[in-house]
Amino acid sequence: MGVLLVLIGIVATPFASLELFPIPGYMTAFGSSMLVINVLLAALLFSRGVTERNSHIIRLGAAYCFVAVIFVPLTASFPGGLIQGSIIGSTTTPVWLWSYWHAGFGLAIVRYAFGLRHPHSRVNSVGTTVLVVVALVVLLTLTATIWLPYMPNVFADKATFFTGHDLIIPYGIMAIDLLALYLISSLQTRSPEQLWLTVAMIAAVIDVWLTTKGVHRFALGWYAAKVGSLFTSLAVLLSLFHGITSLYRSVSERANRDGLTGLYNRRHLDEAVDTEWRRARRDGRPVSFLMVDVDEFKLFNDTYGHLAGDDCLRRIGAVLSTCIHRPADLVARYGGEEFCVVLPTTQLRGAIEIADAIGKAVRHEKIVHGGSKKGIVTVSIGVATRYPDTTSSSDELIHDADKALYKAKRNGRDRIEVMQPEMNLVA
Ligand code: GH3
Ligand code: MG
Ligand code: MG
Repeated sequence: MGVLLVLIGIVATPFASLELFPIPGYMTAFGSSMLVINVLLAALLFSRGVTERNSHIIRLGAAYCFVAVIFVPLTASFPGGLIQGSIIGSTTTPVWLWSYWHAGFGLAIVRYAFGLRHPHSRVNSVGTTVLVVVALVVLLTLTATIWLPYMPNVFADKATFFTGHDLIIPYGIMAIDLLALYLISSLQTRSPEQLWLTVAMIAAVIDVWLTTKGVHRFALGWYAAKVGSLFTSLAVLLSLFHGITSLYRSVSERANRDGLTGLYNRRHLDEAVDTEWRRARRDGRPVSFLMVDVDEFKLFNDTYGHLAGDDCLRRIGAVLSTCIHRPADLVARYGGEEFCVVLPTTQLRGAIEIADAIGKAVRHEKIVHGGSKKGIVTVSIGVATRYPDTTSSSDELIHDADKALYKAKRNGRDRIEVMQPEMNLVA
């Protein structure tokens, strides 16, 4: 995008002063769009800064807030937007406000880049920041309106801006923006902010360059500069939204996962079992459920410590994941040292096969357990299968598997027991 902007800048430079047809209301449309986009950018950055308690991001928000606020007087002072003349100030007012916009944004980015060298700066409140920005813009607007008689006349013949000695103003602004561009692109970090700020600063430099080369309002350079600024702000906004979407995705994914084993957690399991149960009822298919419990695990913890216990649970979780093959099958940590497996559209025979494979795979891991009879870690598994009907719920399936598990424990552990609906009466 940066390269594209530079290309536009280079191609447009020789034709920058080409006078084009003045589009009435162009500045109003551009100004309103810039106002909305920059308010959104500032709001997103402020809320992120507050959440992360990051003063740098709040400072960046302040830079975009400044751009948003300055576009109010800038749009209002541009002649022929909403009314024939300017709503505030004279025709020279927008030239000054335009200068303040670019110089102010550039300085804010320079300040942001320097601030990054001091990681522990104080977090300013967003309310105070916005107040300071608004006060600054009011002050700047006053210099560009009622103090105008005391300011250099940058719009001498009411047609061309920045001629002769006045060129020092845009060149000074360009120097600030180039400094900001240099500071941002030479940062050690490679964050998304750095990337889009680099592009934003390239756009700012090209805007100043083309507008100055354009010499007149409604010249090709003048139009091109505005299109460049608008699309760059929009690109930055889209990149921030993209960041938020990725964040949402990872948060919702994490909310469904167990922190220790990385398997699905109880929360996700409850939802998944319910969904599969209702689907199976609609299709007249069975659902199987395995409840897997590590044998003598308390003793394991007592012998080897809780950290070794955690490691053992992680390994068993990984083993369980390798034992299921269909996309709809699901392994979850039920809680503590209990895991479960949901097997939709699986008959009892298939469920027993999977349970057998799990028992074998855990034994095959040969995790030493001095306290157990076998000398290695083993699991007991309760297996249950049900055809859902309108009177039963998925809780009953889990209850069946739980009962079968207790039976496996009673019968000596390291084994599989089955509970079928017709056996429900057998406690
Ligand atoms: P049984 O063969 O009858 O299942 O005996 P058990 O010792 O495995 O069962 P019990 O319910 O008495 O003990 C379960 C133990 O699991 C107790 C608890 O400290 C341990 N445990 C539960 N969650 C975790 C965990 O996240 N990490 C570790 N290290 N241990 C856990
Ligand atoms: Mg248990
Ligand atoms: Mg146990």
